[in-house]
Amino acid sequence: MRRWKDFSIAAKLYTVIGIMAVLIAGELLALNFAMGTVSAVRAFVGGESMWSKSQKNAVMNMQRYASSRKPDDFEAFLASLRIPEGDHRARLELQKLHPDMAVVRAGFTQGGVHPDDIDPMVRLLRRFHWEQHIAKAVAAWTEGDRLLEEFKAAAFKFSELAQAPKTSPEVLQDQLRHMRKLNEDLTLVESDFSNVLGEGSRWLETVIISLLFLAVLTVETIGLTLTILTSRSISRGLSRIHAASVKIGQGEFDTELKADSHDEIGALATSIDSMRVLLKKSYEGLEVRVKERTAELSKLAAENANLYEQANQALRSRDEFLSIASHELRTPLTALSLQLDLLTKQVRSGKTASLEEALALFGKHVKRLGGLSNDLMDITHIRMGKFEIKREVCDLAVVARDIVAQIRPEAERLGCELRLEAESVRGNFDSIRVGQILTNLLTNAVKYGSGQPVEISLHPTSTGARMIVKDQGKGIAPEFQTRIFESFERANAGKDIPGLGLGLYITRQIVVAHGGKISVQSQPGAGSTFVVEIPA
Ligand code: ADP
Repeated sequence: MRRWKDFSIAAKLYTVIGIMAVLIAGELLALNFAMGTVSAVRAFVGGESMWSKSQKNAVMNMQRYASSRKPDDFEAFLASLRIPEGDHRARLELQKLHPDMAVVRAGFTQGGVHPDDIDPMVRLLRRFHWEQHIAKAVAAWTEGDRLLEEFKAAAFKFSELAQAPKTSPEVLQDQLRHMRKLNEDLTLVESDFSNVLGEGSRWLETVIISLLFLAVLTVETIGLTLTILTSRSISRGLSRIHAASVKIGQGEFDTELKADSHDEIGALATSIDSMRVLLKKSYEGLEVRVKERTAELSKLAAENANLYEQANQALRSRDEFLSIASHELRTPLTALSLQLDLLTKQVRSGKTASLEEALALFGKHVKRLGGLSNDLMDITHIRMGKFEIKREVCDLAVVARDIVAQIRPEAERLGCELRLEAESVRGNFDSIRVGQILTNLLTNAVKYGSGQPVEISLHPTSTGARMIVKDQGKGIAPEFQTRIFESFERANAGKDIPGLGLGLYITRQIVVAHGGKISVQSQPGAGSTFVVEIPA
């Protein structure tokens, strides 16, 4: 069987209203029945009072006849008996198994009962004939009828005796005494009849009022109980749902909301629970997405920071370059200007003995300026994408020997021995640019070589040439070994060592333009070895 809370709310409300309607209908029927019974009892009491009034009238008329002996008075006596006789006939008919209602109605009409009261009275007598008050009343009524019948017979006898000429006054007096005795008995019976009916009607009123009270109490109790149960089951379900919704609103998605009924509230609980599950999933998805996005953003931020750092680094390098470049240019220019003054003075004074030496120094500064401007030109070409090589058939050994010879004086000045080991490597190379490679590597080896010997070797390979420049100087820290090939990168070279940080950058561009590669092996304090591979 379905449980009460599994009924839909509408079904619950209709059931409650239906039960209430049935109960109220029952209550109204009971009220109708009670009113009918009360009015029947009232009619019965009225009938009894008519009966006893007529019985008293009959006795009075008989007494009048006894003294007047007028036939009219006897007629009046007989007329007074018509009402009890009508009632008598109706009662006899009613006591039959299948009473003839026409006879009953005629009897009660003769008994002076109002036509509208006849049916309720008949129902009362037939339905409740077993009830002690009704039974007693009917018994008193029957006894009264019997006595009245006896009284009527005695009255007829008295009338007969009174009209007979030889009747002695004693006989008449006896008959009158007999009739008085009957009248006394009748008075007693009539009083019984009336008492019993009064008592019965009071009892009935109490019973009916109690029954009605009970019926009202039952209806109200059942109605209230059903209403309380229904509203409690509805409000309890709604409170659970409310509490769960508040939790969901606060972001707590772990408490399951179980439907404990199959009505609308159960359905609502189920939908809210599925909403909770959906929200939980989307929140979790959201959290994952937020985490991913945060990670992406932090990565981006890190990259940006990196870019920013690189840009800053570039700006720093540029500023540093400008300061170095101006310094680098100013140094030879100042020297040149001083030399020029000196030369001018010497020429004017005719002291030209040391002129050659002065001009050599002059040439050295001009060469240095030339080298600087070449580097700047190269880098401008590289940046503009206009850097190119011009291959021609040549022997790199010749180039190497040439360059070593050019560098040697400066190397020797710094106490640095240059050891060249060159095999002939003939091929298609840009000899000027390859010379520039060697110049740059050698210049660095001498500059950073701490006055130690520098070894230069040149050998052919299967594809072209391999050049190695090895010094025993201060070396390069690992973290700078790739950076030194970038432009303006001077690693940890101090300001006391001149340079723009472009030599290795240009060198690598030349090597790459030849389709070759350059690498360095170095240990800080143990010198550096630069290896260049160039295809022919
Ligand atoms: P620079 O004009 O500063 O010499 P380079 O591009 O020729 O510029 O060299 C870049 C940097 O590499 C130098 O500043 C120096 O710190 C380092 N370097 C290059 N060659 C050597 C070497 N042989 N020994 C030690 N450090 C070197």
